[in-house]
Amino acid sequence: MAVVRQRLWAPRAWLDGRWRDRVLLGVGVDGCWAEVVPDVAAPADAETIAGPVLPGLVDAHSHAFQRAFAGLAERRDSAHDDFWSWRDRMYGVALRITPAQLHAIAAHLYLELLAGGYTQVCEFHYLQHDHDGHRYADPAALSHALADAAADAGIGLTLLPVLYERAGFTAPELRADQRRFATTVADVLALQGAVRRPLVNAGVAIHSLRAARPESILALAERSAGPLHIHAAEQTVEVDDCLAATGCRPIEWLARHAPLDRRWHLVHATHTVPGEIEAVAVRGAGVVLCPGTEANLGDGLTDLSGWLNAGVPLALGSDSQVTRTWPEELRWLEYGQRLGQRRRNVSAAPDTEPSTAARLFERVRAGGAAAAGFARWGLQVGARADLLVVDASDHALRGLPADHLLDGVVFSAPARPFARVMVAGRWCALRDDGIASRFDAAMAALWKSGVVSS
Ligand SMILES: [Zn+2]
Repeated sequence: MAVVRQRLWAPRAWLDGRWRDRVLLGVGVDGCWAEVVPDVAAPADAETIAGPVLPGLVDAHSHAFQRAFAGLAERRDSAHDDFWSWRDRMYGVALRITPAQLHAIAAHLYLELLAGGYTQVCEFHYLQHDHDGHRYADPAALSHALADAAADAGIGLTLLPVLYERAGFTAPELRADQRRFATTVADVLALQGAVRRPLVNAGVAIHSLRAARPESILALAERSAGPLHIHAAEQTVEVDDCLAATGCRPIEWLARHAPLDRRWHLVHATHTVPGEIEAVAVRGAGVVLCPGTEANLGDGLTDLSGWLNAGVPLALGSDSQVTRTWPEELRWLEYGQRLGQRRRNVSAAPDTEPSTAARLFERVRAGGAAAAGFARWGLQVGARADLLVVDASDHALRGLPADHLLDGVVFSAPARPFARVMVAGRWCALRDDGIASRFDAAMAALWKSGVVSS
């Protein structure tokens, strides 16, 4: 057994998908759980945790720079506004941001994500080059900015450098306003190995089928290791364009032509037919859902029951950063289904898990770990020693029967549900005046440079 460097004892903790009482948690010298034992009295040498303990979750899809844009795209000044007009405006931020600003904005975001219950974030990282589209002296400059930000905040980081080659299925070049994104397969492989630091790992990503050539997609899949993420079927326009160009829907194309397996994580997967869900399930690939962003952008509703019942690994992503806490993402995920179907507790499984919150939480706990490349995740021996302490004294949670605490966290929404957060055996500071003031300065500079148009 690993040497224990620190013992914690919690009155309640979420083990194996349910609450257990009086739980001893031992942190090993490697920052992973060395012992997890329920139903024991608190040893004299253990730090007693004041409230119930949950595992941290993985935020499996983040574009950190888009945090600078949250709240700035909620006005319409023309007849029509949709994903594509939002994207044009978002590119305005992408084109202006500097490495120092990315560092400042991401550090602030990562503190918010920690406070929101995420202890690992997957950066789907496509902003690579300088304002003119030239490589930085260190081509991984913006990857290092993200890693610096993660270190400042204390969150774990999975870097996913993105293959981005073209503007569309029939547009072989990038648009001028996509010049900071251009990468080849060789670039992505070099970026994957460029940042080696504690609490940082790496996989790779493909922006989407429209933004990468088929031969490049297959080459990257063959030559890379670790998790492989791709945006898929977020917009009906993308599905229509894919059908016109290839004769297949996007996920259908991936199932037929790409080596889909457990490495692959399809981000959004909003517009599907049952055969595509079945194909993803058979191949073992996962899906990353971003309910807050998908609602904000008017993407549509995924076939959540289809994914759940097929056993497909599911994860959550904060994506455009309009939502930065997982209880709110889970609430949006379930409420979208309820509104669409005019039913309640759509995600519950009466025979095996009647709690909607518990079923969704367990699915995204496991699916998020896979998306970030972790074999073990949660309050179990060998997993990284991450945890969340629920503030059960919050006005929103007081008086709940103990077994309903997770239901309350998700559906009866405290503003700040987590009192303390631990990553790799260390308590995180959830507020940092230096990070906040650097964020304010970066935002003010971006506003001055013209990001806010009205
Ligand atoms: Zn995205």
